[in-house]
Amino acid sequence: MTALGDLLIARIARTGPLSLAEFMADCLMHPQHGYYATRDPFGAAGDFITAPEISQMFGELIGLSLAQAWMDQGQPAPITLAELGPGRGTLMADALHATRSVPGFHDALTVHLVEASPALRQSQARLIPDAIWHDSANTLPDTPLFVIANEFFDALPIRQFVRQGDGWREKMVGLTDGALSFGLSAAAPIGLLQERLKDVQEGELVEHCPALPAITTALSARIESYGGCALIIDYGDWGSLGDTFQALRGHDHTDPLTAPGQADLTAHVDFAAIAAHARPAKFSRLTPQGVFLERLGITGRAQALANGLSDDALKSHVAAHRRLTHPAEMGELFKVISIYPSNAAPPPGLEP
Ligand code: SAH
Repeated sequence: MTALGDLLIARIARTGPLSLAEFMADCLMHPQHGYYATRDPFGAAGDFITAPEISQMFGELIGLSLAQAWMDQGQPAPITLAELGPGRGTLMADALHATRSVPGFHDALTVHLVEASPALRQSQARLIPDAIWHDSANTLPDTPLFVIANEFFDALPIRQFVRQGDGWREKMVGLTDGALSFGLSAAAPIGLLQERLKDVQEGELVEHCPALPAITTALSARIESYGGCALIIDYGDWGSLGDTFQALRGHDHTDPLTAPGQADLTAHVDFAAIAAHARPAKFSRLTPQGVFLERLGITGRAQALANGLSDDALKSHVAAHRRLTHPAEMGELFKVISIYPSNAAPPPGLEP
């Protein structure tokens, strides 16, 4: 068992079973042993690879989309250009690079990064030394806010509930013979799931992300009051139904209970929950990542970059384009939603 596993076993023995959200929060962000708190998990040598690490085109197109939204909103200044969970900082660095010739954009903006992991803050500071870091989206400035979140919401802890009658049994992490094991609490009514009694059948499982409402509201309140927009990209769908909790280690699925703190834990994002907290700002139609990137012109950009490449570099560039956009790869599983002001149009690539 890992050091964090031993701590969790001792804690459960003392104070009882943990909700999945409590377990996930410690596994990902425990200050000494948490997965993100202690390492850089990205890339071929890490546990998974994200879109900005696959190709510079991803961050470039997102940067240009935000800059165009800024122009469409009358070039307000000063503005906040923010990212939630920036990982290595690659996406923001590529976005800044691609927009440096947009007149006035860089003069208007200050970069703000919301990042909980000290290890990843260090990587981000190497690429974006002038950034201002935040522990939470609540402290972002009260200015027009242009913000990106790629694979951020999927890392937020979730709770899981199984319907029984008009109540719900919560998935818990407890102990069996001194080892971590999953169990279900006794059935009880859950106020926040009252609406789901309409569409969830006996025995079916739903997921709820407790941190999502406050984070989404922190963004949408600023966007509606001051202008700007949010681009939220993740794997997931409209509404949550079924178990999407997964642990990844070394690019493979693993049992989330065997090595706490050593595997990436995620769940699919419920975009309907994000949309529900976008008001009074508006939210765009949920759009597959591949469609979004094609609309922003990724194929033209890919061809331009291909001109300078040959052999293996060209092959891997072509593979990266396919990986980001093809429905069998990230193009369909990953989705994009935007939050934008009720008096403005959605950012380029997205529809009301
Ligand atoms: N956006 C990056 C990284 C995605 S991984 C990319 O696309 O490559 C998730 C990121 O969110 C990591 O940087 C992680 O440390 C951060 N993170 C996870 N939970 C967080 C939280 N509750 N608050 C702030 N940052 C968080």
